[in-house]
Amino acid sequence: MAKEYDLVILGGGTGGYVAAIRASQLGLKTAIVEKGKLGGTCLHRGCIPSKALLRSAEVYKTAKRGEEFGVVAREVSLNFDRVQERKNGIVETLHKGVQHLMKQGKIDVYEGTGTILGPSIFSPMPGTISVEMKSGEENEMLIPKNVIIATGSRPRSLPGLDIDGELVISSDEALELKALPNSIIIVGGGVIGIEWASMLSDFGVEVTVIEYADRIVPTEDKDISKEIQRLMKKKGVNIVTGAKVLSETLQKGNSSVTISAEWNGEKKEFTAEKLLVSVGRAANTENIGLHNTEIVVEKGFIQVNEFYQTKESHIYAIGDVIGGLQLAHVASHEGIVAVEHIAGENPSPIDYTLISKCIYSNPEMASVGLTEDEANQKGYNVKVGKFSFRAIGKALVYGEADGFVKIIADKDTNDVLGVHMIGPHVTDMISEAGLARVLDATPWEIAHTIHPHPTLSEAIGEAALAVDGKAIHG
Ligand code: FAD
Repeated sequence: MAKEYDLVILGGGTGGYVAAIRASQLGLKTAIVEKGKLGGTCLHRGCIPSKALLRSAEVYKTAKRGEEFGVVAREVSLNFDRVQERKNGIVETLHKGVQHLMKQGKIDVYEGTGTILGPSIFSPMPGTISVEMKSGEENEMLIPKNVIIATGSRPRSLPGLDIDGELVISSDEALELKALPNSIIIVGGGVIGIEWASMLSDFGVEVTVIEYADRIVPTEDKDISKEIQRLMKKKGVNIVTGAKVLSETLQKGNSSVTISAEWNGEKKEFTAEKLLVSVGRAANTENIGLHNTEIVVEKGFIQVNEFYQTKESHIYAIGDVIGGLQLAHVASHEGIVAVEHIAGENPSPIDYTLISKCIYSNPEMASVGLTEDEANQKGYNVKVGKFSFRAIGKALVYGEADGFVKIIADKDTNDVLGVHMIGPHVTDMISEAGLARVLDATPWEIAHTIHPHPTLSEAIGEAALAVDGKAIHG
């Protein structure tokens, strides 16, 4: 029997389930269709499991240097089964939490694969959703007034570099490793590649990163790339930049893989036990019935307006499937804006220049706003303040004093244009910079938000003073 809804959301990842909660708060009769597990990539194959593994790697590394803190912990060893168990436990706890939130919001969850149908006996407009139920029960037919497509993304690979799940893996398989390899080649030195490089290296794996651009994390400020490259090398990661992987040279042995890359005009060969491909993510636009609609897909991503409406104005799309910043907090906020627009709440469009981006390697990186190069290219009269964690007492107390905070400001208006950080716990500190950008704060205002002592956040206050050459400890 067909069921009617105000809103049906296709995909219960971070974007989809948060949109559903907001819709329920606004009184919309809402359903989610999810073919895998509620929580999507972020909860099951992304943010949370990868951060749980990174934390284990950090604890392992810290335990090994216990003597430095006067803690004598001899024969520190790794129980990787336990590492995986802990990660799975955290994911399961949060998964139950999301299931509970759906019940609390009286949101109907259909476990199955949804497809958008064209005009039919149910509706003169495209948007009826047919659900092929996981349980094998008869298909459900959902007739919504509005639809949100939140089907997310999946790992991409390079032509000829097929992911076999054994020797050549993506982050999906890497998260489920039963045992650590002795060595790994990581193709792609972006956010995901560098998080894995950092974690695996801290676990004791021999890591080589091959990056096509002339620097790793190439979308970050140049100074940040330079510093993380230095620190990755310091921990023993072999980093090869400006190298084009020659996929056709891939050779698989029983328990090793060899690949070549073109580097400085030469062909360089790399061999390791596994090869991890981290070259970006493709949007899940196939097999969801887009051909039954007027929805436009360009360069693999669904095209939307500032309120996330597709060419079919009652069908919205949010999150990884529309491209741009493929981040969990972006997906969920896009979901909130879309739902508020559906409910006639007149939401403000998202200003993407105010969104903070984090990389959870060890050390961490975090940024908001323009890089120094971008600010110069846009014609700003740029001034820069930089402050090292070496001069921050709390960083020394933690035994983690690598890195710095860099603030880019406009000499003419004194506005903060961008903030870039690398160092201990910077992902937890970037929101202060985010707020500064939202409020159009000046470096003076940041510096005079007196930062408590001793805290890592003092580096932000000092960097703000450094913009005008007035840092106290620098
Ligand atoms: P998804 O989370 O991918 O959810 C889409 C859902 O739709 C899936 O559950 C899928 O099963 C379902 N679906 C697809 N097709 C259908 C269909 N036809 N019918 C029913 N259901 C369907 N972001 C961060 O902000 N911070 C991080 O630390 C971070 N770390 C990451 C680490 C890794 C290794 C990876 C891979 C990603 C990471 N991300 C991180 C990115 C983040 O996971 C994504 O940006 C986020 O999950 C996007 O949310 P989404 O709702 O758009 O899509």
